[in-house]
Amino acid sequence: MHAMVLKKLRTDLVWSELPDRHPGPGEIRVHVAACGVCRTDLHVVDGELPDPQVPIIPGHEIVGRIDELGPDVTGLTVGERVGIPWLGHTCGVCPYCVRHRENLCDRPLFTGYTRDGGFATAVVADARFAFPLGDKGADVALAPLLCAGLIGWRSLRLAGEGPKLGLFGFGAAAHLITQVAKGQGRSVFAFTRPGDTATQNFARGLGAAWAGDSDTRPPEPLDAVIIFAPVGALVPLALRAVRKGGRVVCAGIHMSDLPGFPYALLWEERQLVSVANLTRQDGLDFLALAPRMGLVAQTTVYPLRQANQALADLRAGRFEGAAVLVP
Ligand SMILES: [Zn+2]
Ligand SMILES: [Zn+2]
Repeated sequence: MHAMVLKKLRTDLVWSELPDRHPGPGEIRVHVAACGVCRTDLHVVDGELPDPQVPIIPGHEIVGRIDELGPDVTGLTVGERVGIPWLGHTCGVCPYCVRHRENLCDRPLFTGYTRDGGFATAVVADARFAFPLGDKGADVALAPLLCAGLIGWRSLRLAGEGPKLGLFGFGAAAHLITQVAKGQGRSVFAFTRPGDTATQNFARGLGAAWAGDSDTRPPEPLDAVIIFAPVGALVPLALRAVRKGGRVVCAGIHMSDLPGFPYALLWEERQLVSVANLTRQDGLDFLALAPRMGLVAQTTVYPLRQANQALADLRAGRFEGAAVLVP
């Protein structure tokens, strides 16, 4: 197999030939057809997540077909198309796992962070965390659903049901969640880096009711805001944008430090929460909903060998929507 391997933190991934791997008990091997590029991959490369492990193969928005089953795998077959998400394994016995909050498991494994991911021609995964994808939809179009879509979906649920939703940071997740929120009859207010009129136009094109700079106020108070950008300085701006009792959801795994801000921004029962990871139920719910809503991922495709270029373009905001690697 071949892979783009992170050998040392804060360096380019290296194209590498590796011995073929075989699935152990309860595992499957998946021949990768497409793997999305997520901001979390940048945090992995940059060493911004706790206890980084190298060498590691990043990538956790994997679409491919099973080409080998390990012992004791039930319910999946060779040739079946599956998606492999960020949540790669949970212990099943910690207080979070047994209370249906496996996203907070005490002993998890995460694809592309603490177990090898999909910037590769093949990946070995825990079969219980693979989502059957069926045969509808293109591999490339499905890949961004597996994190941008899923984490966006969990964030949207945590944001509550208010009709006026703000999104700070309009990348892969926001462009999908705008479509979901519109489908639910909500109005979306999109905040981008100041002056990024291209992305503001992109947001309007997807149906956002309003789009503007992150340092401006929306035309009316919002019920909730989801912050997808990894920028702590956005938190007080988001709190300022929500009404009394409104909620701000921080959707990313990493953020720069939050600045101090007046308590008045939180006062009046505004809430500030974060979203961590996903549960398998989130995945099943969202992947069933996505085709019914006709979600369309806008993708920019890169050959697997150009993963470093894709990461650089993501960092610089050089494309709209999501980047996807194809082996
Ligand atoms: Zn657990
Ligand atoms: Zn991700």
